[in-house]
Amino acid sequence: MTNTVEVCIINLSGLWGELMNINISKLIGEKTNPIDISLNYELNNSELLQNLNILEVEPLKVTGKVYKNNGRIIVDAVFSGEAVFRCSRCLEEFKKNVSGNMNFDIPLEEKDDDNTYIEGDYLNLSTIIEEALAFSLPMKTLCKEECRGLCPICGQNLNLKECNCDVDYIDPRLEKLKDFFSKNEEV
Ligand SMILES: [Zn+2]
Ligand SMILES: [Zn+2]
Repeated sequence: MTNTVEVCIINLSGLWGELMNINISKLIGEKTNPIDISLNYELNNSELLQNLNILEVEPLKVTGKVYKNNGRIIVDAVFSGEAVFRCSRCLEEFKKNVSGNMNFDIPLEEKDDDNTYIEGDYLNLSTIIEEALAFSLPMKTLCKEECRGLCPICGQNLNLKECNCDVDYIDPRLEKLKDFFSKNEEV
């Protein structure tokens, strides 16, 4: 049975416990027994969800393993689930499966403030899952590749129906260029 969790922290002291009993020189290139991960992660990071245009997400199923190898903590896992997004172009809601790999290789020596993954004897799997999710998504989430977005004049969703606006639309960023060229013409 898998547990549903909100904060996901794995105790690594087991791994380090083994380390203490072993001559370190023998550890080079040697692996410890992995910790199996099998859980459902409830993503409640509202800032992240907003950044990713996600309105709702079901608990992400995370499976894989964590082990120590050569002075590093290796996370080798996958996540999957379904989320409701808002299209960045037409603003409609749509459902989409999300999934990806969580391949992290974290050096144990760097246990300083920059290392957000390991705190003391603990591995912060929440951060890892959230980063992997963000990484798996494109910068702009679109309901479909060819989404036509909204009419800039009347706001009609052009995927649903055409409007009658005279769309000689110029990107506001290009507007300045247009001014620039017309001024030059006048000279
Ligand atoms: Zn769209
Ligand atoms: Zn229109």
